[in-house]
Amino acid sequence: MNFDVLVVGCGITGAVIARRLAENGFKVKIWDRRSHIGGNMYDYVDEFGIVVHKYGPHVFHTENKKLFNYMSKFAEWSDYRICCGAEINGKCTPTPFNYKTIDDFYLPEKAKELKRRIEKSFPGKKTATVLEVLSADDEMVREYAKFLFDNDYSLYTSKQWGVSAKEIDPSVLKRVPLRFDYNTDYFDDTYQVLPKTSYTDFFNNLLCHPDISVELCREALDYISIKEGKLKYCGKICTFPVVYTGAIDELFNMKFGALPYRSLEFHMKHEDIESRQDMAIVAYPQEEGYTRIVEFKKMIPDKKVSGTTYEIEYPLPYKAGVKQEPYYPVLTESSMAQYEKYRTLADKINNLYCCGRLADFKYYNMDQALERALLVSDMLLVKE
Ligand SMILES: Cc1cc2nc3c(=O)[nH]c(=O)nc-3n(C[C@H](O)[C@H](O)[C@H](O)COP(=O)(O)OP(=O)(O)OC[C@H]3O[C@@H](n4cnc5c(N)ncnc54)[C@H](O)[C@@H]3O)c2cc1C
Repeated sequence: MNFDVLVVGCGITGAVIARRLAENGFKVKIWDRRSHIGGNMYDYVDEFGIVVHKYGPHVFHTENKKLFNYMSKFAEWSDYRICCGAEINGKCTPTPFNYKTIDDFYLPEKAKELKRRIEKSFPGKKTATVLEVLSADDEMVREYAKFLFDNDYSLYTSKQWGVSAKEIDPSVLKRVPLRFDYNTDYFDDTYQVLPKTSYTDFFNNLLCHPDISVELCREALDYISIKEGKLKYCGKICTFPVVYTGAIDELFNMKFGALPYRSLEFHMKHEDIESRQDMAIVAYPQEEGYTRIVEFKKMIPDKKVSGTTYEIEYPLPYKAGVKQEPYYPVLTESSMAQYEKYRTLADKINNLYCCGRLADFKYYNMDQALERALLVSDMLLVKE
C-alpha cells in the first residue's frame, strides 16, 4: 500500500482534509466515484467559452475571514454580489423581495402607502420573514405578504420539496426574508466571491502536492465496508484512517433505512441570443416542473461572450441506488433520529472519520463544509 490515509470523496471536504494531512507528512490517497474533482463545486468552460457550474450556481460567501483566507491560498477571487429574481405574472422582480417588488406590482400612490404602512408595522426593521408579514396587524401589509405567499413562496417551496402548500414546514419559509428597502443583495455576508478563473482551478491547486494522489471513477464501497462494527478494507480489518465524505447510510448498507433527500436534474441549454433573463438566477414559481434558471454569463460580468448558456433546474424525489445525486437532506424529526443511529455507530469506529454534507447529513454551504474539514483534519492530526 502506498498511502497512510484514504479519503473518500474529492469535494471541498475531502480535498481540504487531504491537503492538510499531506502538509503534515501523511501520504494521502483520494478516491471519487465521479469522473472529475471538486464534488458539487465542479465547473468547466463550455464550447462557447462560458464557465458553467455543473451542479448549480455556487457563490462562496462567509463572514469568517479565516475561511476566506484559506480559500485565497489556492485561488484568486473576485468580489461578486449575486442578483436573483422571481418571475411573477410575467414580471421579473428582485429576490429577496424588496421595495422594487412593491413598485413592480402596485401603482405609485398605493406603493407609497404600502411602504409607509410597512415602516409603521415594522419600525426600524430592515427585513422580516413572510410569516411575520402575513401576521401583521395592518390589512394592506398582510395582503402584500399574501400576494407573495400565493404567487411565489408556496408554489416554489412545494415544487422544491415535493409537498403540498399546506404541508410546508414554516422553517423553510424563513430562509428568504422580505427586505424593507431597495437593497438587492441575496446574501449579507462580508465576503461574497467567485474564483477569478474557476473552482476547478482552485481544486487543482489545492490537490497539487507530492503526497496527494487522486483516483477518479473509483467506487469506494467496492473496497471498504463495515462488518460487525469494524471498518474493513478488501474484507480485512482496516488498519489505516479513512476519511469518508459520502452518504453515511450507503456506508452502513442502509442498515437503518435510506435517509431522505431531494434530488435535482439540470438541463443545460445554449441559445444564440444576448440574454435569456434579467438576472443570473431567476425563480419561476408559476411554471410547471422547474424551479429556476441560471444564466452563467451573468456570473462572469467582465467577460464578453456572444450567445448564452443556461441551466434549468428540475427538483425530483431521490431514490437511493438509482443514478441520482442526493442534494438536499430532508430534515425532519424522524430523519434526524435515523441519522443519529448511523452517527452513533460511526463514532464507535476509531479510524473512521465521517464528515461533509453527505456524511453529516446537513445542508452545508461551502464555508461550513470548509470549516468542518479544518476541524476534522485538526482532530485527525492530534489522534493519528
Ligand atoms: C444546487 C446547489 C447550489 C449550491 N450553491 C451554493 C452556493 O452558492 N454557496 C455555497 O456556499 N454552497 C452552495 N452549495 C453547497 C455546496 O455544494 C456544498 O457545501 C459543498 O459542495 C459540500 O462539499 P462536500 O465535499 O461536503 O460534498 P460534495 O461536494 O458532494 O463531495 C462529496 C464527493 O464524494 C464522492 N463520493 C460519495 N460517495 C462516494 C463513494 N462511495 N465512493 C467514491 N466517491 C464518493 C462524490 O462523488 C462527491 O464528489 C450548493 C449546493 C447545491 C446542491
